[in-house]
Amino acid sequence: MSALADICTFCCEVSGGTSSNLFYDLGISQEGSRDYILDETAHFVVFPCIGALVPEYVLIVSKRHTLSAGWFNGEERTDLQQLTERWTGRLGGNVVLFEHGSYDFRDKGGACYDHAHIHLISTDAQPESFVRSVAEDVALHSCDDWLGAAVDSVQREERSYLAMSIDGCDYIGNSRQARSQFFRQHLAAWLGAEPGGWDWLVYPEIGRVQGMIGRHGQTSVT
Ligand SMILES: [Zn+2]
Ligand SMILES: [Zn+2]
Repeated sequence: MSALADICTFCCEVSGGTSSNLFYDLGISQEGSRDYILDETAHFVVFPCIGALVPEYVLIVSKRHTLSAGWFNGEERTDLQQLTERWTGRLGGNVVLFEHGSYDFRDKGGACYDHAHIHLISTDAQPESFVRSVAEDVALHSCDDWLGAAVDSVQREERSYLAMSIDGCDYIGNSRQARSQFFRQHLAAWLGAEPGGWDWLVYPEIGRVQGMIGRHGQTSVT
């Protein structure tokens, strides 16, 4: 196991390590089991979001330790696009994609982890009101392709970003001034979660996480 798996929860969970694996620590999966990995490609894994605010809420996590999709190379971006399409179909309903993309350790753009991850949520709530709510903290602009805009933000403009994609409409915003976890707080308010429900350490929503493993898990994984 690489040293990163000892200090980065996502590196540990991607590799099935035990040193800081919340799926094991919270008793969601048996130690040594990889049943929480719902899907896997050359560059990514998909697992349920711990603290899921709705029953269908997964994270697409890169195998490579990097801060955000803005740092992905061409192969990773192609892989991600295909995986995103597959899971948008699999989750069904209105699927909201978002990423709070870090530029570096100082300019984190409201991200909750220092390892690239894309949130995918299926909900009946109206996406327009969510976009309006987020826009109170971060000015959002529509764009053709959030992933291309994310790469521009990080590699050309050298700053963090907030990217969203809802029903074929993509948005990007500059999140340099954003407070930590601001996005999850808007999300919780929009989805009608209980007060404080945005804090996944307090509300890990283990039942929802296990529900997703039951519905979407790969039974053949050992
Ligand atoms: Zn990592
Ligand atoms: Zn996040």
